[in-house]
Amino acid sequence: MSHLIEMSRISKAFGGSVALRDVSLALAPGTVHALMGENGAGKSTLMKILAGVYQPDGGDIRRNGRMVSFANPRAALEAGISTVFQELSLLPNMTIAENMFLGREPAGRFGGIDRRRMRQETKVALARLGLDLDPDTLVSELSIAQRQFVEIAHGIDADAGVFILDEPTAALNAADVEVLNRHIRALRDKGKAIVYISHRMDEIFAICDVVTVLKDGQLVGTQPLSEMTQGSLIEMMVGRELEDLFPERDGAAGEVALSICGLRLEPDAKPFSLSVRKGEIIGLAGLEGQGQQKILRALVGQFAPVEGTLTRRGKDKRLPLPKESGVRRWQALGGAFVPEDRKDEGLFLGLGAGQNIAMALHAGRPAIEVAKRYGEVIAATMSKLNVKAAGPAASVASLSGGNQQKVLLGRYLATDADLLLIEEPTRGVDVGAKSEIYKILRDFAKAGGAVLVLSRETLELIGLCDRLYVIHGNTVVSEMRAAEATEHSILDAALSA
Ligand code: ADP
Ligand code: MG
Repeated sequence: MSHLIEMSRISKAFGGSVALRDVSLALAPGTVHALMGENGAGKSTLMKILAGVYQPDGGDIRRNGRMVSFANPRAALEAGISTVFQELSLLPNMTIAENMFLGREPAGRFGGIDRRRMRQETKVALARLGLDLDPDTLVSELSIAQRQFVEIAHGIDADAGVFILDEPTAALNAADVEVLNRHIRALRDKGKAIVYISHRMDEIFAICDVVTVLKDGQLVGTQPLSEMTQGSLIEMMVGRELEDLFPERDGAAGEVALSICGLRLEPDAKPFSLSVRKGEIIGLAGLEGQGQQKILRALVGQFAPVEGTLTRRGKDKRLPLPKESGVRRWQALGGAFVPEDRKDEGLFLGLGAGQNIAMALHAGRPAIEVAKRYGEVIAATMSKLNVKAAGPAASVASLSGGNQQKVLLGRYLATDADLLLIEEPTRGVDVGAKSEIYKILRDFAKAGGAVLVLSRETLELIGLCDRLYVIHGNTVVSEMRAAEATEHSILDAALSA
């Protein structure tokens, strides 16, 4: 039998509502198994059953072919199942070492706990993951990424065979995601089975071998990722044709909202020009890291190109912009900028949703006026964007990726910006919320706004945009109507340049 774990026909209801119905999942050693589906599909519930947090109402679990049941998380850990959950499970007021040995503290010579050994072994376990942390550090002092790595170290130390990572990267920045992915690959190479839950398509395709899709508590199917494309995976998740995910284009383009002339991003790159009209959503497509981001960042003063001119509202500005101008200057031009890294560059995680939205209203307005309009604008924005939060005071850190993105968008839509630059609009966002965000962007364009967007998900650009510029080698190599573009034609344009 080649499966480490087999869950068969698992069912689970909470009160009257069914969270899982007859779901089966088999985990093979040496594989990273993606578990996907919209919010509420049942992914976390299935994994909490495997981890001993919940008991199933029906179905069974086999480990190496033998029926098992886990009365609690500790029993699951003893059976070699380690978890990193969305809600972190380390105890914040204890040290790293105490967390690592919780419930299995080594006994010392005189009957007490052997703290020295705990510290030493913790140090070794952390070092294995390349972590240089003091075992006596309180968990509450660690960053979210560090806490996750400690949980993984814990699992490795407990000699787990199965690692469950439930949306581990939702709260991580790009650099930490890289480190995490390296650890996951190392675990796979050691023959561990890893379950990986994430909404990030690029990560799924980069590190997973197999995918199981759930929808409304039921199994849609399990497939090797090598046989799938992003498109077929999305279709599996939403259970409808891809086109239905995107709002209709209306094709009405007005006057030019932004033009960029003679932009030379790097000394050895060819200068190019591009323009965005009112009512248009324009995508910057192509292979990753070919200069798409430099274009947006040059406009907000965060990247210094060699030369170029930007024209906005009849005024010319020479590029590079003066260093100190930054995003504020862009806002003064009626522009908005939503960066890729919501956590590091955009949102204030410690503040409430309302405060995050109100933030940009301060720019260029008397404080008193802002204060008066505050409550109304925030409430209207949250309801218009369908932000699912307990209220304006709800901390942004507690919201799902989709709702965080809506809050960030809301910040700018609450201002009178009519030109939006947006990076990775639906990164880490579940499929249902993706569709809502596409509609928000389209409505913004319909109301006379203009959007310039970049995304690693080519299908997203094709579905969402009116026109695409293909970027390669820090320059525009092709321009096409999105409705006629395909992943293939974009790649072709990029590579034949
Ligand atoms: P996912 O992780 O795919 O987003 P979940 O497993 O968290 O989905 O949730 C599946 C369904 O079960 C949802 O409808 C959710 O509201 C419900 N659910 C999950 N946990 C509980 C719980 N502890 N009590 C009641 N309902 C729950
Ligand atoms: Mg979940």
